Amino acid sequence: MLTCKLVTCFCLAPFLFLTGCNGSAQPPLANRAIPVRPVRVRLMEDAKLVELTTTGPYIVTDESGKVLWRSTSAESLKVRPTGGGILFNGRLLSEPSIQVKLTTFGTIKLADRRYRGWFRLVKNRSGSSLMVVNHVPLEQYVASVVGSELPGYFHPEAFRAQAVAARTYVLHRMLNTNRPDWDVSDGAASQVYSGLSTETSQALKAQRSTLGEVLVYGPAGREEIICTFYCSTCGGGTRPVWELKKGFKRIPPLAGVQVDQCQESPRYRWKKRVFSKSKILSTLADRNAKLRRLGSLKSVRIHSRTPQGRAREIVLVGQRSRRATVSAEDFRYALGLPSTWFDIEDHGSKVWFTKGRGWGHGMGMCQFGANGMARHGYRYDEILSTYFPGSKLVRCY
Ligand SMILES: [Zn+2]
Repeated sequence: MLTCKLVTCFCLAPFLFLTGCNGSAQPPLANRAIPVRPVRVRLMEDAKLVELTTTGPYIVTDESGKVLWRSTSAESLKVRPTGGGILFNGRLLSEPSIQVKLTTFGTIKLADRRYRGWFRLVKNRSGSSLMVVNHVPLEQYVASVVGSELPGYFHPEAFRAQAVAARTYVLHRMLNTNRPDWDVSDGAASQVYSGLSTETSQALKAQRSTLGEVLVYGPAGREEIICTFYCSTCGGGTRPVWELKKGFKRIPPLAGVQVDQCQESPRYRWKKRVFSKSKILSTLADRNAKLRRLGSLKSVRIHSRTPQGRAREIVLVGQRSRRATVSAEDFRYALGLPSTWFDIEDHGSKVWFTKGRGWGHGMGMCQFGANGMARHGYRYDEILSTYFPGSKLVRCY
């Protein structure tokens, strides 16, 4: 019911000002517009062919809303870019982008996933591929993300904390993005979003019981929505956001905390990982061709660490003492290491990564830590204020 109310809100009020919309005793946000509009989630970046299936009648429109095609029944659709526009089930639509919208309640299927909302398909600059963007009501997006991000056995208070973190994160993205077509992608680079299938009962309960609640920071009357990063397992403490991300203010909620509550995670400590030096170099060089000038890899060392002890930079030494320094975060992504909190041991042709701690980038809320706190009796607002110290929880609609 509450979600339906929001859907109406999207149509009638493209922007809802927070001042005065807060029904609780908590401080409102002043002079800051919350984009109460659907979230634009990029599902595909470069598709040569897009296959959609609708569960009922639908229309295809141009950007102005003019109907280009109307169907009175459910259909499977094949959409591809073509020279003069977009080829839609064999019909040429002379448009650079189209919108596919159901005319009754239902979902649209892409690959094996069903999605709420509607789809926008946009020809990329090259003209040879399509970007696929799902426009989905914000609260339904939040429910899906929460169900995608947390395992079902987590505590309800951890689910609630996750719902607030997911909502705050996407609103921060929507307020700060300058991308014309999308706000977030559907993978871990933003938040994992899998459509209808992950709107689990736990996720829906968490979304509904925290409806509209977000985390803000700032002096009274000038609060702003913060960027609520989160990660699976911090390994014994979170890190400042500015260690990894540029452009973020050095404010207390983003500073990281020494909270050690994620012992139940299977990656709280991780076992030794072994790579050959040749594998390390070839893997890194696939992403950064300049590294091929090292010839072969003689040694791999941690060049610098963060104050907490995570690797910050890795130095690679090659033939004739050629050296290259890479960021530890890029290094761990390339090799598939769980985190940058490790030691390195040189064993001839092999390198051991030992004393591994945590899983993920280590910023913001630790999900296993949130669950650990919930199991110790903490409420979701207490969990959030622990991981984002100094922030305030407010309801913005
Ligand atoms: Zn943790």
